[in-house]
Amino acid sequence: MVARTNLMPSHRIKAPQVFHKFEDTTDTHVTASPVTNELSNTITRDGAQTLHVVTATGATTELLSHKDVNEPIYSFYALVYVPDVSNISSFTIFAGSAGYAEFVIITLSSSNIVQGWNVVGGTRSTFPAATFWDAGIQDSKLRVSPQSGKNAEVYFYGFVYQAMGRPTLSITHDDGTVGQYDNAAPELDARSLSATFAVITGSVGNSSSMTTTMLQDLISRGHTVCSHTHNHVKLSTVADSVIRSEMTLSHDFLRSIGAPEESFTVFIYPNGGTNATVQSILQNEYGIKTARLVGNNVGYKDHQIVALDPVIDRQTINTYSMNRGIVGYNGQTISQLLTSIDDLITSGGSACLMIHQVLTSGATGLDLNLSDYKTVLDHIVLRRDQGLLDVPKMSTWYDAIKGVPRLTI
Ligand SMILES: [Zn+2]
Repeated sequence: MVARTNLMPSHRIKAPQVFHKFEDTTDTHVTASPVTNELSNTITRDGAQTLHVVTATGATTELLSHKDVNEPIYSFYALVYVPDVSNISSFTIFAGSAGYAEFVIITLSSSNIVQGWNVVGGTRSTFPAATFWDAGIQDSKLRVSPQSGKNAEVYFYGFVYQAMGRPTLSITHDDGTVGQYDNAAPELDARSLSATFAVITGSVGNSSSMTTTMLQDLISRGHTVCSHTHNHVKLSTVADSVIRSEMTLSHDFLRSIGAPEESFTVFIYPNGGTNATVQSILQNEYGIKTARLVGNNVGYKDHQIVALDPVIDRQTINTYSMNRGIVGYNGQTISQLLTSIDDLITSGGSACLMIHQVLTSGATGLDLNLSDYKTVLDHIVLRRDQGLLDVPKMSTWYDAIKGVPRLTI
């Protein structure tokens, strides 16, 4: 028997692979303690999707569910909407095999619960010692503990899980420099790899940047060309009007060169500059589905969704820095980078490689020498051809996760 108790560090959800939802909540049973009569709680079903629960006063209430998931899984969450945080003391999720012979217990305390949607759960990497991940899940429950003397009100949307999918690694190039066309693209093509090139559209045709013809050629060869703004503006530091002009100018340019639809669904933030306003404008006004940060103090294993309310697909891809490789952001050597790719595979995770210039020699700073670039690509191809790793473009990666349920009440 394996039982672990931990405080989940964040209510945020990490979604490297496709989510599966328990079909509905109609088989969800409600119990309460010390009040044992289900009728002591006020429960309203909203079709098969949502349970509206107001607990009996001061009574811990448990929402029980059962589903036979007979495959290895990566993560497990309960989706809970909280109208008033002040009534809640904690959430605890239990997930395990039949009868909880193997299980995890994850608790989210009141200080981590937010008004709105909460995602309560954990991942295989959070609780690596729990053996049930490989066996799948059968029994689950969410325990809602109200503050003393209060009625806790929640909307329980259900449980979701992620299958232990194939690890993914997206190759991205920033800034649209000519060395990426001359040096990187031929190496990608020789290995049947496709990458995402984020272009400073206002610099196209400058001496160090790709030309329109080069960009159109990359697109014809199956790569993605997307916006990196028109003037490499850190969008989190400028007025909304500048965010809009940068996006409009860059998208107008991409349209003028005949870029396909996928070019307008992904984005890379210059200098990683983003915030809720930037994300909202990009998502709601410019159709961006997913955007990549710059990597430094971020995990390479996961894509992190940065906002859940009101929809779950306003997300940002965390990156694993892979700049010069010798003294990159993380001070890693090329061999360490290869080890990190293997760690990604072991964890079943998902990541972006962020690469700037690729030069024939003399790379400094954020650039990478061609010989090192080839070493890294060879390793990626080795693992891909061993069947251990998928290498999707950012737009393809998004397609794989857009089955994440939309949350509305
Ligand atoms: Zn840049």
